[in-house]
Amino acid sequence: MPHVLWRQSLSRLKDRVSAAELGCWVEAIHPVELRERRLYGEVPSALHLEQIRARLQGPISGVLEELLGPGAELVLCVNKQRERGDAARPAARAPVSEYSFASFVVGESNAFAHAAARDVAARPGVVYNPLFLYGGVGLGKTHLASAVAQSLDTGLRRRVSLLSAEAFANDLIRSLLGGSIDGFRARVRQLDVLVGDDIQFLAGKERMQEEFLHTFNALRGAGKQIVLVSDQAPRSITNLEERLQSRFESGLIAEIRPPEPALRLAILAQKSKLLGFDLPLEVANWVAGKIVSSVRELEGALHRLVAACHWSRRALDLGFAKEVLRPILRTPAPRTLEEVQRVVAERFAIDAADLVRRGRTTRLREPRQVAMYLARKGTNATYAEIAASFGGRDHSTVLHAVKRVEARRLGDAEFATLVDGLASKLAR
Ligand code: ADP
Ligand code: MG
Repeated sequence: MPHVLWRQSLSRLKDRVSAAELGCWVEAIHPVELRERRLYGEVPSALHLEQIRARLQGPISGVLEELLGPGAELVLCVNKQRERGDAARPAARAPVSEYSFASFVVGESNAFAHAAARDVAARPGVVYNPLFLYGGVGLGKTHLASAVAQSLDTGLRRRVSLLSAEAFANDLIRSLLGGSIDGFRARVRQLDVLVGDDIQFLAGKERMQEEFLHTFNALRGAGKQIVLVSDQAPRSITNLEERLQSRFESGLIAEIRPPEPALRLAILAQKSKLLGFDLPLEVANWVAGKIVSSVRELEGALHRLVAACHWSRRALDLGFAKEVLRPILRTPAPRTLEEVQRVVAERFAIDAADLVRRGRTTRLREPRQVAMYLARKGTNATYAEIAASFGGRDHSTVLHAVKRVEARRLGDAEFATLVDGLASKLAR
């Protein structure tokens, strides 16, 4: 019911708000419930809430009043999880429609993952099982996994569930508290396709891992497709049981890397077109040169530009774009050496004090070299300063460490991922 009403509202709103507002904000509203003359809806972020309240409440209430009568209103709240699905209702939730293959722009950095996802969608349970996608934040992992889920969710026979590892855990806890795990097991295991997002969330949670292992085995044993998503390769997820790591590796692992320049431009072009927004090439080039590490941020910048142009009723040129994006492009202060050491120590599960202690323990060599390398790349410190901060070593030790890490990165993909993961963590 709320959906039908909302669809009618949208078609009326089309004539009353701009295409950009419609695409950017109004269409992000997810209707949940209709009670009396109140339509309850969810939006994916606080920014949506703020923008809709500030400038769209009027036209939206107007349309609702026409359809429902005087006093009708829209009540919104933020629900970041709303698109994730829920293990408790595996078959009921269709994944978000905008996360489709059609809206996924393919470039060098995601081509392999995209091809693998396509294959899986075409022949689920047959080609790669599981398909394990990994990569940094905001690179389109959830988008791609949802596209697989969506294309398999024909609405007919297949039961598809897209759930985050967190949702899996929460549902499991609810069942355990409710006294029975059987219902949970039955629900999850009846699935034909399981998409597990943010699987790194299972790290360090033994009970969850145990249950996930059973689910995994049951589904795969029955020839059901499993797609897993994580911010790291299976081997690099610390505190993940060996049995799970090896199962996660048993299908196909595909990395999504940060977008290359051409892909960044293509994504900007595609998204601005969808928003009906005229993005001058000069501005697109500039934005694509500034925002390099995340598609989500690229998208965020575009939304900011759209909103700013609307507000100011100004046409977009490079000068205006720079002004509008300045707050989000502010380069953060460089990291300190202590921060680098702390992050590296945490990753290797050692004491930061051990990193700087003198001595030649073999166990500490790798973390120490990685820390020196990252210190060189991510801080303003000189070789001599870095050497001093690692227990008063000689600067040639640091030089050597940087070279070693650089060389090993080239030949050892797993090591490269580890180092890059730490670097992006330090990049804030
Ligand atoms: P992740 O799960 O890797 O953190 P998401 O899948 O949530 O990232 O993507 C972040 C945003 O960027 C989403 O809005 C998504 O639609 C968009 N996005 C990422 N990659 C692409 C792409 N190749 N083409 C189109 N949109 C993309
Ligand atoms: Mg994600």
